[in-house]
Amino acid sequence: MLCDGYRRKIEYLRLSVTDLCNLRCRYCMPLEGAVKRERSAILSFEEIARVVAAFARQGVKGLRLTGGEPLLRKDLPRLIGMLRAVPGIEELSLTTNGVHLAAQAAALRRAGLDRVNVHLDTLDPEKFRQITRWGRLEEVLAGLRAAREAGFSPIKLNAVLIKGWNDSEVEAMLRFAAREGLILRWIELMPIGPGLEMSDRFLPSAWVRERLEEKYRLLPYGKRLGRGPAEYYKVFELNAVVGFIHAVSEPFCENCNRVRLSADGRLQDCLAYDESESLLDLLRRPGAREADLEAKILRMIQIKRPDHGGFRRPACNATAGMYGIGG
Ligand code: SAM
Ligand code: SF4
Repeated sequence: MLCDGYRRKIEYLRLSVTDLCNLRCRYCMPLEGAVKRERSAILSFEEIARVVAAFARQGVKGLRLTGGEPLLRKDLPRLIGMLRAVPGIEELSLTTNGVHLAAQAAALRRAGLDRVNVHLDTLDPEKFRQITRWGRLEEVLAGLRAAREAGFSPIKLNAVLIKGWNDSEVEAMLRFAAREGLILRWIELMPIGPGLEMSDRFLPSAWVRERLEEKYRLLPYGKRLGRGPAEYYKVFELNAVVGFIHAVSEPFCENCNRVRLSADGRLQDCLAYDESESLLDLLRRPGAREADLEAKILRMIQIKRPDHGGFRRPACNATAGMYGIGG
């Protein structure tokens, strides 16, 4: 079992398969995008599967593929099939901006993907374009339909709450999710990467809860939905479920159960700190043993910090946008 120095059990790995993206959400990625790297600078599928197997032997059961935009990684269903075959991995999910989901949902499902989360901040096509700099809302909506047709259930919608951008859509988004049978989750804007410059647009998720409670009865859901930190409520009148990820206003660090692996093989314990350890050299060293890999992973987990320290600088020093960390 993987336990950190604060007796937290690490059971969940977020795997970034690329830091490239086809959108440029203003709080995540600068206009120029991520630097395209040599293929050799990125973990191959075989290397990813080796790392995952090392985690699984130490008790990790859940994986989430993310990025950047994971659907840009060529041949992703092949990786999904490989990860599915790793003994001990019980749950394989993916977080996407949905742009390529219409084309890929069926193949992802066939390859063994259990669940998809789709990132969608607004239902207004013009606002969507502004937030993502050039995205087309209809592509994401088509992706959601394809995911449902492919048999994914439940599908979660991830919306980052941004003052002045989508705070006026709190009810419309919930009604949309209820109608489409999706689980909407509001994510607090984190002061990471370009998100740091937008701190004046932060709104706590309690603000959404209060707005919704003016009209609906929100009852604590009482059960976990997946391995994430979201807090869920049933919305009685709409027969829907809404979730809140309040990492900033009500941190959940004491229950943190995850670490992140970047596309170039760096293991990162916490979003708030740049500290990471590269597994790449070890993976490529002739004669390196699986036990060495496991030991390196364990060492990194043992120094996981107790919390994100309120994301306060200079202690918290994350400079990369979420796209580079595998948000
Ligand atoms: N491209 C995929 C997507 O957009 O879902 C996967 C990667 S993206 C980095 C994962 C999640 O991180 C998205 O839901 C996005 O909204 C969120 N995110 C990015 N920057 C953020 C920030 N500064 N604060 C909060 N969430 C952020
Ligand atoms: Fe791309 Fe996702 Fe970041 Fe948006 S949030 S820029 S879709 S990686």
